[in-house]
Amino acid sequence: MTQPIEARCDHCKQTRPLFLYQPTHNAHFGFATCRWCARDKQPLLCVRCWGAERELEENDPFLNEEAETMAKICATNARIAAREEADKATCEGIAAATQKAEGGAQ
Ligand SMILES: [Zn+2]
Ligand SMILES: [Zn+2]
Repeated sequence: MTQPIEARCDHCKQTRPLFLYQPTHNAHFGFATCRWCARDKQPLLCVRCWGAERELEENDPFLNEEAETMAKICATNARIAAREEADKATCEGIAAATQKAEGGAQ
């Protein structure tokens, strides 16, 4: 951990040790973007402003909605994958049974 630089906070304009704010939310769908991703440079914030910013990010309805959608998509994908796996097992079972039946007929 590097020693925080002391400079003017981008938010409260007080001279304090600053930390670079980095958003923690996942990437967006398509070209959707939010106030954190839209800015070209992340702000340097003092501990207080940094915490406030993090709270804002965590409580952002748009981000939460997106995270919910993402969770739903993941759950659906997992369900589809599980079904495909089950289908594959069934097909393999049928193929094995057919082979066995054909083998027995010979
Ligand atoms: Zn500040
Ligand atoms: Zn974003």
